[in-house]
Amino acid sequence: MSDERSGPSIVWFREDLRVGDNPALLAAREHDRPVVALYVLDEESAGIRPLGGAAHWWLHGSLASLTTDLEDLGVHLLLRRGPAEEVVTELADELDASAVFWNRRYGGAERAIDTTIKTTLRDRGVEVASFAASLLFEPWTIQTGAGDPYSVYTPFWRACLAAPPPREPLPRPRTIDGWRGRAACNDLADWQLEPTHPDWAGGIRDEWEPGEASAHRSLKRFLAEDVGDYDEGRDEPAQDSTSKLSPHLRWGEISPNAVFAAAQERRKGARGSTATGISRFVSELGWREFAAHVLFHAPDLATKNWRSEFDAFPWPPLHRSALEAWQQGRTGYPMVDAGMRELWATGYMHNRVRMITASFLTKNLLIDWRLGEQWFWDTLVDGDGASNPFNWQWVAGSGADAAPYFRVFNPELQAKKFDPHGEYVRRWIPEIGTDDYPEPIVDLAETRRAALAAYDVVKRSR
Ligand code: FAD
Repeated sequence: MSDERSGPSIVWFREDLRVGDNPALLAAREHDRPVVALYVLDEESAGIRPLGGAAHWWLHGSLASLTTDLEDLGVHLLLRRGPAEEVVTELADELDASAVFWNRRYGGAERAIDTTIKTTLRDRGVEVASFAASLLFEPWTIQTGAGDPYSVYTPFWRACLAAPPPREPLPRPRTIDGWRGRAACNDLADWQLEPTHPDWAGGIRDEWEPGEASAHRSLKRFLAEDVGDYDEGRDEPAQDSTSKLSPHLRWGEISPNAVFAAAQERRKGARGSTATGISRFVSELGWREFAAHVLFHAPDLATKNWRSEFDAFPWPPLHRSALEAWQQGRTGYPMVDAGMRELWATGYMHNRVRMITASFLTKNLLIDWRLGEQWFWDTLVDGDGASNPFNWQWVAGSGADAAPYFRVFNPELQAKKFDPHGEYVRRWIPEIGTDDYPEPIVDLAETRRAALAAYDVVKRSR
């Protein structure tokens, strides 16, 4: 039956919106059929989490950029919408495709869908191959001596670094034999991924440029200009000393292999703060790997406590006005409010401030981490199915290698330490120090005591 299939090879793009270092695209190029590319907007399949608003905005820009980059190579990107299982198999039949290639994804629902599609297509005589392209280490290849997944970051990352090194980035194809046929393609604008009424994306637009070229520019700038300040400055939100690569990595506009290889190259001959900065930066990529490893082995990470004893945590009834004050940056705690306003305005929040705002929500307001995770998911341009729930659970105490529960970040002390001149706070709260800025909505010491008392219930349930 496979002999009868004479149509093109399909490259199905998902979380790898790039042309460079793309194993699926290269495999299609090597296959002796013309190539057509596909992106499926699937927010309907069972278990697939609909994207948040900021993510939609990013996806629009990223697909526009990928369309142009592929067109330059002579490859057309088809846009279709619906449950991936139906869309991919129908397109393969429609085009009489001889092969379908894709790069792997690691969420539970995503893997189940991919496995089903692979079986269906193979049964119909279509060649199918999937590749590693979004992580440095495939999650199942890193195991403890006993063959178990890791639950603590340091030994996990040590095991990664002792494993065969990540492959070098693959070359960017210069030419591809693109398929010249015709097939229905949605208009990207019709997907309405960008907000219009109201257009809340102005600040995001000013801050970011989605796409592969922009991702590489950020990496280059970071390694040339900022990496020397990274180890010292990465905890100070007023300093722009981190890479800002997270949304680019989230959407696969740049591969972790390309980032890792560029960092290793920069390390050659580097000394002092540059050498320390690079090591620290690479170990942060390790946290991204660890989050994916944890998600792979605990697919319900966004909804279920990773440490099941936290199921006994006595969350009080939701105080909706407190949740809204947190979301809108009106808690009366400047470091928290500055972070939440940065998030709303730009789709991003500095890592230190993510920890402070998450601790405040879960421990001072005693609001379930899942509500905070959902808000971040909706507002972050880098909202990631592994890193977001992983880090929320890490702060809340219920996660893998989590901070000890009694570590309740004090937003006032954190501000003194990490924003000593109040620069970050003033950037986001122009009315600070005036009557327009709200009084604190809770007392820090009192709420900390309440949180520790609630945690006692978890301890007793163990
Ligand atoms: P850099 O400091 O330059 O780090 C380089 C890269 O390492 C980042 O781009 C990112 O890919 C990775 N990285 C760094 N720190 C972490 C970390 N703690 N966990 C996982 N990967 C990390 N990151 C996301 O990419 N998506 C999320 O949805 C997300 N949600 C978070 C939620 C909370 C509550 C917290 C505390 C952290 C979250 N992070 C998330 C991690 C981290 O805050 C961001 O990755 C980082 O701020 C991105 O900025 P950067 O690219 O300049 O980072």
